[in-house]
Amino acid sequence: MQNDIALFSELCDELFKSEISQPVAEPIPTSELYQRLDLSLNAEGLIDEDLKETLKRIIRNTPKTASKSFFNQLFGGRIGKATLGDLLAVMFNNSMYTYKVAGPQVGIEKQVLKNICALAGYPEDSDGTFAPGGSMSNMMAMIMARDTKNEAIRTEGLSSKMTLYTSETSHYSISKNAALTGLGRNQVRLVNTNGRGEMLTEHLDKLIHDDLNEGYIPFFVNATAGTTVLGAFDDVESISQICKKYQLWLHVDGAYCGGVIFSRRYRHLLNELELSDSFSINAHKMLGTPLSCSIIVTQHKAQLHHSFSNEADYLYQTDGDDFNLGKTSMQCGRRNDALKIWTLWKSIGTKGLEKIVDKQFEMAQIARDYIKNNSDYKLYSFEDSISVCFNYKDVPAKELCTALYENSKLMVGFGSFNGDEFVRMVTINSVLEKDDVLDFFKTLEAFVEEKMLKITTT
Ligand SMILES: *Cc1c(COP(=O)(O)O)cnc(C)c1O
Repeated sequence: MQNDIALFSELCDELFKSEISQPVAEPIPTSELYQRLDLSLNAEGLIDEDLKETLKRIIRNTPKTASKSFFNQLFGGRIGKATLGDLLAVMFNNSMYTYKVAGPQVGIEKQVLKNICALAGYPEDSDGTFAPGGSMSNMMAMIMARDTKNEAIRTEGLSSKMTLYTSETSHYSISKNAALTGLGRNQVRLVNTNGRGEMLTEHLDKLIHDDLNEGYIPFFVNATAGTTVLGAFDDVESISQICKKYQLWLHVDGAYCGGVIFSRRYRHLLNELELSDSFSINAHKMLGTPLSCSIIVTQHKAQLHHSFSNEADYLYQTDGDDFNLGKTSMQCGRRNDALKIWTLWKSIGTKGLEKIVDKQFEMAQIARDYIKNNSDYKLYSFEDSISVCFNYKDVPAKELCTALYENSKLMVGFGSFNGDEFVRMVTINSVLEKDDVLDFFKTLEAFVEEKMLKITTT
């Protein structure tokens, strides 16, 4: 093992070098992938030297999500202490279902959950768990809501049409989860949004009202803290009033921007979060931990237990339910996703996490200011969003993003809203500084002058 740790360290050096020398890895066309890289698995193994060379080649061609040219996704960068925690978790190789097998790691997970509950404004006896991702956190919320409305469903299955509500700009996992849970995609009502992509509460009220009149059973509303394209925040307070009126479970999907609970400056975007029934946050997005680190908390600890526990004599042989985390999890064996966020949190404190979050808004502000001061750009996003959406010189966003990637210039994606398609630059990458944000625009502009404008004029 010591040899492999030394090899790991050498491979990391290769990765760090490559992140600087070629921040956007040369993309290999899918049709050439198996010719260009030796990915084959054979009867005979490789000696270490050859394995090392193969891994180095793979490193060079793997997209660099921690480079300063990565603006593509709702995560990016690398924070040493968080990565350290995750590497340790791999070495420990515990499974989080029982105290017997995970020991203090259970306390670590519970401590993170406890602090997230407190930041969400939830009472002492709230609880939560780690899920394999934000999509699964949303599914857990949906299941708790379903079981709260009708507890017989766990044993009998669905017997009536239950409806749920989410905005048209919310994450696709809501519809997917409706399909996976047997509720059905057609029972998902998409609520209209305003010009900023925020849920229109009056429309929500009308949809619920109409469904009740037609004999449906409404049970769940999903509000979003940071929509996937624009980074918009639904108004939790007004939505919660409607949920109260009709007795519906309110979940706040904070996978993208739920991290604002750490920021005194931006916490107001999630005003009245304490009125929600459940809340999820992806620490691998705004808090900069490695993937995945998704947390769901709820004020209804008993419901969490009720919906996800299953007796298993072969597994739960010691200790109480509070320490056997398998009783509140969707999974059986479960990797330790808590240690990375705990190690980061322990090392820089809540104040350090606040700085990480605030910096992303600061970087987005720098980008927006640059765009506003340059008439070649058109801006589509709003203040208080770390998704900076724009077009440059009317170059079609999709072609621009694809060409930037194919020419190893920048990794950035595109999105659309209200019929406009635009570049979506995300300033969530933890290694970004002001100059990197400005370099992004310089690189993009030079590329357009050199490549794109020529193409469109010929
Ligand atoms: C990213 C995201 C999700 C999904 O999270 P995964 O961890 O990728 O499954 C859900 N909702 C929103 C708003 C997101 O941005």
